[in-house]
Formats: sequence, C-alpha cells, structure tokens
Amino acid sequence: MKPSATIKLGTAFGIDILLHWSFFFLPLLVGWFAWYHGQPLSTTAVWMVLLVVVLFSVLLHELGHALTAEKLGIPIIDIMLTPICGLARLERAPARPWDEVLVALAGPLANLGAASLLAILIWIRGESFSIDPKMINDSLWLTLLWINLCLFAINLLPIFPMDGGRILRAFLAMAMDNSRATKVAARLGQIMSVLAIAAGVYWQIVALVVIGIFLIATAEQEIRQHFLYPGK
Ligand SMILES: [Zn+2]
Repeated sequence: MKPSATIKLGTAFGIDILLHWSFFFLPLLVGWFAWYHGQPLSTTAVWMVLLVVVLFSVLLHELGHALTAEKLGIPIIDIMLTPICGLARLERAPARPWDEVLVALAGPLANLGAASLLAILIWIRGESFSIDPKMINDSLWLTLLWINLCLFAINLLPIFPMDGGRILRAFLAMAMDNSRATKVAARLGQIMSVLAIAAGVYWQIVALVVIGIFLIATAEQEIRQHFLYPGK
C-alpha cells in the first residue's frame, strides 16, 4: 500500500518508486536561493537539472540495495525518495550478517558502476575529467560521474545507519550478539554524526547539520527497535 504524502513516479524492475511530497521544498529552496543571490535564470535552470541528476543517482543507489535484497529472498515494499535521502524499504532486515553486507554494499557499488561507465564514455569522447563548478551545464556526463563518485564514497562512511555503518554493524554481529552489535554501531555513528554537525556549524553547511540530526535520530530509532524486540 502506498504511504500517504507520497507521489508514485513509476515502477522500475517491478518496484514502486515513490517521491515524498516534501521533496518539492528542494526546488523551491534552490529557486529562492538563486533569486536571493540574483542568479540569472540559466543558472537556476542548471541547478534544477542538477537536482534531477542527484535524484536519479540516488534512485540508482536504492535500486542496488533493493534488487540485491530481492535476490536474497527479501520482499521489497517500495523505494521512497525524500529531500534528505532515498530509502529502499524492505519487508524485513537481512537475517545473516553476510546478506546485510551484500545489501548495504550494493547501493554504493551501483554508483561506482555508473561512475565507471561514465568514465569510459568520457574517455572515449576524449573529454576532460576536471570539473569547473561554473561549467557544469557543459558536461552533464561529467557532473553525473562526480555525483555518483560522491554518493559511493559518502555512503561508505562508517556512520550508522548509512551503508558503511550497516556493514560495520554486520561485521560486529559476526563477533557479538545482534542487538549489542546494533547498539555499538549506532552509538559510534551518533558520535561521528555529532562531529559532522559541528563541522557543519563551523563551515556553515546547513545540509550537513540537517543530515547529522537525521542520522542521530534514525540510529536512536534502530537501537530502540532492537531493545523493544530483542533478537529481531
Ligand atoms: Zn545506501
């Protein structure tokens, strides 16, 4: 059943792709930011295209998670895209630690795969690999490549509940009790999220602060779930 406050964008590989309505705050925010800084319409348009490119790359990442989970016999509910992140919603968590590693790794690997294909394409066309932020409209492929590389690297940071943190949790679960592994990984993730928030405040990067708070809250939720339903 489709959750409320979402719009169905379509289906990919039989999986429903939903967009949370709050996503539309992003183009509004980008539009306002461009207007506030007196940017020409052409720059605003490039930023909007960039937003779609990021959304597409995030979708690719979530498809990596979802299709791998499906291969391992885990039913998929849907993929939801929000302004902060994408979510591949699974019927249940992978039962075995190695399954968890595979599902978590598949998202960043989808981005690495896309980046590699784009690198080959750019190399064949004989174009430059260096990117100038003012020239992003000149090479959509190069922009897409860098966004996918960033998604690959950022998601592998061992900050639970990001993919790197989930992989860490899975390795911990091989050595200790499942709920204890979640707690250790989540607490470590929360400490790193606090550092990210501090960095965001210091360098005035609002997005880093918002994502940090979101990660702390999500990690806390996961700890509580495991304590409410031990062994789940
Ligand atoms: Zn992921």
